[in-house]
Amino acid sequence: MLAQSLKNYFNFVTDVFITVALDTPLDTCFDYRWLEDGSQPRNKPQVGQLALVPFGRREAAGIIVEVKGESDVPADKIKNAIAIREQLPPLSARWLELCRFAADYYQRPLGEVAIPALPKNLRGEKSVSLDRALKKLARLDHAHDPAPADAPRLNDGQQQAVDAIAAAEGFAPTLLYGVTGSGKTEVYLQAASRVLAAAEQQGTQAQILILIPEINLTPQLEGNVRSRFPGVPVATLHSGLAEGERLTNWLAAHLGHARIVLGTRLAIMASLPHLKLIIIDEEHDASYKQQEGLRYSARDLAVWRARQLSIPIVLGSATPSLETWHHAQSGRYRQLELRERASQSAVLPKVRLIDMERDKPGEGLTSTLVGALKLRLERGEQSLLFLNRRGYAPVLACDACGWIGNCPRCTAFMVLHKPEHRMRCHHCSLELRIPRSCPTCGNIDLQPLGRGTQRVEEGLQRVFPQARIMRIDADSTRLKGSAQAAFDSVHRGDVDILIGTQMVAKGHDFRNLTLVGVLNPDTALFSHDYRASERLFAQLMQVAGRAGRAGQKEGGNASEVLIQTRYPTHPLYGAVMAHDYDRFASDLLEERRQAGVPPFMYQALLRAEARELQTALDFLQHAAQCTEHEGIIINDPIPMTVTRVSNVDRAQLLAESPSRPALQAFLKAWMAQLRATKTRARWSLEVDPVDI
Ligand code: ADP
Ligand code: ZN
Ligand code: ZN
Repeated sequence: MLAQSLKNYFNFVTDVFITVALDTPLDTCFDYRWLEDGSQPRNKPQVGQLALVPFGRREAAGIIVEVKGESDVPADKIKNAIAIREQLPPLSARWLELCRFAADYYQRPLGEVAIPALPKNLRGEKSVSLDRALKKLARLDHAHDPAPADAPRLNDGQQQAVDAIAAAEGFAPTLLYGVTGSGKTEVYLQAASRVLAAAEQQGTQAQILILIPEINLTPQLEGNVRSRFPGVPVATLHSGLAEGERLTNWLAAHLGHARIVLGTRLAIMASLPHLKLIIIDEEHDASYKQQEGLRYSARDLAVWRARQLSIPIVLGSATPSLETWHHAQSGRYRQLELRERASQSAVLPKVRLIDMERDKPGEGLTSTLVGALKLRLERGEQSLLFLNRRGYAPVLACDACGWIGNCPRCTAFMVLHKPEHRMRCHHCSLELRIPRSCPTCGNIDLQPLGRGTQRVEEGLQRVFPQARIMRIDADSTRLKGSAQAAFDSVHRGDVDILIGTQMVAKGHDFRNLTLVGVLNPDTALFSHDYRASERLFAQLMQVAGRAGRAGQKEGGNASEVLIQTRYPTHPLYGAVMAHDYDRFASDLLEERRQAGVPPFMYQALLRAEARELQTALDFLQHAAQCTEHEGIIINDPIPMTVTRVSNVDRAQLLAESPSRPALQAFLKAWMAQLRATKTRARWSLEVDPVDI
């Protein structure tokens, strides 16, 4: 009797198979059987759920992309899935579509895109219980809330921008082109508020994604958002979060709980079921480009996502990328402008060039700059010195015999780090003791050449022994929380002179800063990289934008920017002095058009690396010849500028086409062939490379 009913039961049950995307370089998904365990019937698996499966000798978490009644894998070969994470609502079809697009576009397997986009705690072998994370969700809403703040009265430009963004329907990409300090943040916040209110009125749900370029800018924006949206659940997503926090915040987004999600580039891959508006602050910033693994552009994916969902997207910048500028000029993006600074009486700082041939610097500082610093110290105002080079000196050398401190593993100099008593390679992170004498001739008088932030800091201390000087760069802020503490002390007024790298150049709303000094920008003028001038211009405008944001105090100094240069007549500096991004961008765009480079050309870079350079070059040579490529320009393979890193030689090959679809079609066929190629070289492809 019992046997009979069991038999009936089993006959009734049909096999269920799932196809799972796993994080492997193999360009395929994998089938598994999902077994009833006999004693208790289970729920049918759903697409978008996470499954734990055996893979090779390990267990791996994957995403179910298909559920089906049969599989092509023979019955004796197919393995059984181990578990399905039923507690987690499935990832949506929309989200999977985003991953699929990114995988196709960047020529990667789906699993390599989708799985790393999930918090680590969800993709480990061990199933972490979600209970704790879910409990924390409720606390997320009101825990760290600062005092509520009223919105300032918008000026006309801001008001028009907010109205235009809030009124937008469907896919509406908008460039918010506003000078530094013009109050773009305020526009984002009020547009967000309108979108949330409209959803509430319609009885629907809304989520807003705000991307920012630097982790260090998160606290400033998070504080603003929380004080302006009391009680509204806000979640942050960036690589600085502990895993537990990351899981909680990711869940808050995925469950639709968080209404506003703030994050760095990785947040573009968050699951946001009710996404209604995307904002990208400082859209030109290079950090939106992931530079390892899946080398995606968070900005480009954001635009795709807005189109997929038919929602507005705002790209904000004082110095838009030429790609975005081009879209705006040609009418594909709408352009909104904020021409003036928002705070009362605040104007853009005056930019002056200091000719270093005439005013020769001591300690890296010209007498003009020293004088300007002195004025600020006397009046209790803050100054910022910008030098995009960390360490003490980029080279240590011996005058007697010509020895230079090279990294033994890279084609690069070891950088002298004096406070840490170390030589460091910025390419492979090798650390060595500082040699007491020249390893070649024994000379004990080794010379640091050039100047990094540490050396400038030391010089400043000699020139201004009374001043409170703070250095902020990747070295001074290695410890978690130290960057925030440093920025806090600047905001509190505990610092007179701030010296730093690009970390201090962007986004920060310093209120008492009236002087910016730029120490060594000339090298970028003569770079072989055609993007260098675009970057330098943006960088100078951004750092200049830190000065004079609160307006001139009575009896205080007018805000100014002093650029130390050997090329005071260079047109780029002329454009910076005039704060004339329009002219600069339009000229540069025309140059690019004539030179046939992006945004008028679409590119992909094939990189190869091996112990011997020749192995890498041979592979690239083979790649250059292995497939039909009508309409595609394949350039010669060349060694990379820094050829050797960590004892591995690197080379690259650039493929390009004026047609994006043509390039995409070519890449697909090309990748299939290259995957089948046997080589000792390790290789990878980057679509839309920015560093070539
Ligand atoms: P941006 O992002 O454009 O560089 P911010 O959004 O940081 O500029 O704004 C610069 C400063 O101006 C901030 O201190 C901000 O509080 C202030 N601000 C913005 N809008 C207004 C306004 N309408 N009235 C007065 N102050 C404003
Ligand atoms: Zn020597
Ligand atoms: Zn090295």
